Amino acid sequence: MYNPKSMKAEEFISDEEIKDTLAYAQANKNNIELIDSILEKAKLRKGLTHREALVLLDCDIEEKNEEIYALAKQIKKDFYGNRIVMFAPLYLSNYCVNGCVYCPYHIGNKNIARKKLTQEEIRKEVIALQDMGHKRLALETGEDPINNPIEYVLESIKTIYSIKHKNGAIRRVNVNIAATTVENYRKLKEAGIGTYILFQETYHKESYEKLHPTGPKHNYAYHTEAMDRAMEGGIDDVGCGVLFGLEMYRYELAGLLMHAEHLEAVHGVGPHTISVPRIRKANDIDPEAFDNSIDDDIFAKIVAVIRIAVPYTGMIISTRETKECREKVLNLGVSQISGGSKTSVGGYAEDEEDEEDSSQFEVEDRRTLDQVVNWLMKLGHIPSFCTACYREGRTGDRFMALCKSGQIQNCCHPNALITLKEYLEDYATQETKDIGNKIIIDELKNIPREKIREIVVKNLEKIENGERDFRF
Ligand code: SF4
Ligand code: SF4
Repeated sequence: MYNPKSMKAEEFISDEEIKDTLAYAQANKNNIELIDSILEKAKLRKGLTHREALVLLDCDIEEKNEEIYALAKQIKKDFYGNRIVMFAPLYLSNYCVNGCVYCPYHIGNKNIARKKLTQEEIRKEVIALQDMGHKRLALETGEDPINNPIEYVLESIKTIYSIKHKNGAIRRVNVNIAATTVENYRKLKEAGIGTYILFQETYHKESYEKLHPTGPKHNYAYHTEAMDRAMEGGIDDVGCGVLFGLEMYRYELAGLLMHAEHLEAVHGVGPHTISVPRIRKANDIDPEAFDNSIDDDIFAKIVAVIRIAVPYTGMIISTRETKECREKVLNLGVSQISGGSKTSVGGYAEDEEDEEDSSQFEVEDRRTLDQVVNWLMKLGHIPSFCTACYREGRTGDRFMALCKSGQIQNCCHPNALITLKEYLEDYATQETKDIGNKIIIDELKNIPREKIREIVVKNLEKIENGERDFRF
């Protein structure tokens, strides 16, 4: 029985409700009256239910689809302006006891080099990341209670926060580790993590069990209920996602939005971010083996519908996607991207040749962070290295309150300019610096409150004179 308030995975992600939703969406995909009423509701910017979102996803009336894309772009603009938050993944260890059939780290893969970074190696990785200009990381590690116990993750977080190389600092560490206990989530919270990220991979239970044939991850309920345990452990920013290409994308989107509705219904706050990875080629993995892969057009539609359905939730895209694809979805709703990423363990500090051996997937976008920053600015975006909310304690419902009050423009926008300025001063090439400084001057006028604008101008001067780390 479907119940968004239930704490049981199979009740808040009800297979029956998803199937009914998909049938409803198919039956109404040409229902102009209904589609118009959903679009009217979406214009209020308070989001949509999973049923409404699925009708928009299935809609195949060209003119209405244009309206959907236009609305997604408008919502993106209203909530996130032209800012794009930058981050990088950091792989700590690829030891894993699970048998996930789509991931090269699965326990049965004997071809891949297994590596686990020591604290000294983590230092080197972090220095390399700081020297690129990164301030925000997403920690990744396989599940292995012997090689990667929670103590190892906690010690690594401590190491990362402690490193201050030149003007560099990692100011926010998000963590993407396997589903764990309330007690461990509490420890992660105490260690000062930003968002806890866990991809569901697929919401379809039967497929989930087949795709995860062995290891603790096989347990669908334990995995699906992880966000509730994380919230119980005090982590109020959680990041959801599915791996598109594993199950039917319509099923996945319905499941993903039902998960968001569940978190909102039970904890009063939905997911902080949603990630939209697609399956990629990797060691021992052939994406062709998964017959549910989605093309770029459907991918763009998914991004647009998510933007409309959950306007307050950040959306993340990684270097799994090509430059062209990233360019398209940035306007439709993506608010965070990675840049200059290495998906191997120790990839930032080591030589290029060694890199592929331990990587989780092949990177499509291989540009450096400076090239990505430069490209974003030429497209009219403002790359932001902001980590202010987490450091000001604006997490969970406090963060949502800020979003809903419309004050985000007085916060995110100045923070983006200040952190971009730091990047330009410390890490950018001359060309990037010139473009960036011009953008900063142009964008000052878009800070609504004069008082804040004055403070930003002063802070920009201070940054030029060597001071760092200002925020609103
Ligand atoms: S997806 Fe995660 S849990 Fe599964 S094999 Fe890969 S690293 Fe391990
Ligand atoms: S002010 Fe908060 S919401 Fe805005 S970019 Fe910075 S961390 Fe994100």
